[in-house]
Amino acid sequence: MEIYKENQLKIYNSLSKSKELFKPLTEGRVGMYVCGPTVYSNVHLGNVRTFMSFDMVFRYFLHLGYKVRYVRNITDAGHLENDADEGEDRIAKKARLEHIEPMEVVQRYTVDFHKTLQKYNFLPPSIEPTATGHIVEQIEMIKEILENGLAYEVNGSVYFDVLKYNESAHYGILSGRKMEDAIHNTRALDGQSDKKNPQDFALWKKAEERHIMRWTSPWSDGFPGWHLECSVMSTKYLGEQFDIHGGGMDLKFPHHECEIAQSQTCSGKTPVNYWMHANMLLLNSQKMAKSTGNYILPNEILTGENPVLSKAFAPSVVRFFNLQAHYRSILDFSNDALEASEKGYYKLMDAVNSLNTIEASSTSTFDVAAWKKQCYSAMNDDFNTPILIAHLFEAVKVINQLKDQKSALTVTDLEDFKNIINTFVFDVMGLTNETKKDSSNALDGVVELLIKLRKEARENKDWALSDQIRDELLALGIQLKDGREGTSFSIN
Ligand code: AMP
Ligand code: ZN
Repeated sequence: MEIYKENQLKIYNSLSKSKELFKPLTEGRVGMYVCGPTVYSNVHLGNVRTFMSFDMVFRYFLHLGYKVRYVRNITDAGHLENDADEGEDRIAKKARLEHIEPMEVVQRYTVDFHKTLQKYNFLPPSIEPTATGHIVEQIEMIKEILENGLAYEVNGSVYFDVLKYNESAHYGILSGRKMEDAIHNTRALDGQSDKKNPQDFALWKKAEERHIMRWTSPWSDGFPGWHLECSVMSTKYLGEQFDIHGGGMDLKFPHHECEIAQSQTCSGKTPVNYWMHANMLLLNSQKMAKSTGNYILPNEILTGENPVLSKAFAPSVVRFFNLQAHYRSILDFSNDALEASEKGYYKLMDAVNSLNTIEASSTSTFDVAAWKKQCYSAMNDDFNTPILIAHLFEAVKVINQLKDQKSALTVTDLEDFKNIINTFVFDVMGLTNETKKDSSNALDGVVELLIKLRKEARENKDWALSDQIRDELLALGIQLKDGREGTSFSIN
């Protein structure tokens, strides 16, 4: 259903630094690009948080009825050890240290990435292109930038001329960095660099003798600069202009700033309408990062094998924990915080699981339509999942009142209520029902169902069926007890 027509979605655009009404370039369609992982090691929980934020965004767009093309790349070449175009390629370094082929490194960690996302119930993107699969296109883009006079070649390497670009455009438009500051804050060239100015960035790097990841180009045997792949692949699959570009906050500069400069140089157009940046996951009040050793792996959460953790947690608990914070807020990871989320998550699931035992009444004491509107308003306000969750907990209260017959809903209200809860909990937030997998819960559900059928039989004065249900359950060791509050049961 195309319910996007009745929803005014606002997105915080990092480019304008304000919330803007979302208007796609083509009605009913969304083109979204998100920077994917550099596959030189296992993703950590911080990476997972960012990808999960965009999984939620993707899910909400789908729920609203948009046709979404979601492109998330795999960086399998060109990402050097630091952002200043220096150091070894991260993948090549790992391959050297482990005495394996770079593509073995890529394969190992791409498989791990996919396995992890599957465990955490991610929807796969529409296209997952790789940097190495687009070397030809990257060389073409460099040629174009050279033709436009905004790049220069030195000793087989090609650099983007930031100062020249800034004469007619605005380098810093996204990050808010001023050119003068950029010059000031960039480390002085060490004399080894071929760059004219320290803020220039590599489009192509000539490979040193020992560099194994190399391709032939008009300039040298070498490899593309890291920022180039995202310009190339977003343009190829989404066009010169597209709706949304996402990534973690730390990619704003230089990565996304450079992407804008490259793409704009080639097309003459602003490439992205809405830039979305997800905030960082912290551990011990520091950014979670592989390089500092301050991280936790998504798999460690599931086994409990990390000194930070008191026990294992279900993947949906982590998802719930992440979504309890807004995607633009920093989030501090701790065992206590995760335990608190676990309580909340199971409270929500218990309520969801008991929805089917609720019976409709002739009147409604709760305004489902108004509550539903509030849920959508939360999501339409820049994907405000913490507010959505607060509304879902209002629903939990109502469910408990309904069970105690202290609240009532008509058949249609009850149907609507159930639908909205299930939609937001499972489709939009992407939670899975961990409790349902528990066989004792399934058994409870089956007995509740039989109690309901027996009640219907009694209402129809079908005493034979009613007694049969009671007696056969008793033979299985399940005793029904009729009381003033309805029928309860015990399992012997
Ligand atoms: P990388 O593989 O380093 O390119 O990172 C993949 C994604 O994870 C990028 O969007 C990063 O911005 C994001 N990221 C890295 N560290 C964190 C963190 N501590 N919290 C949230 N996102 C992160
Ligand atoms: Zn990127």
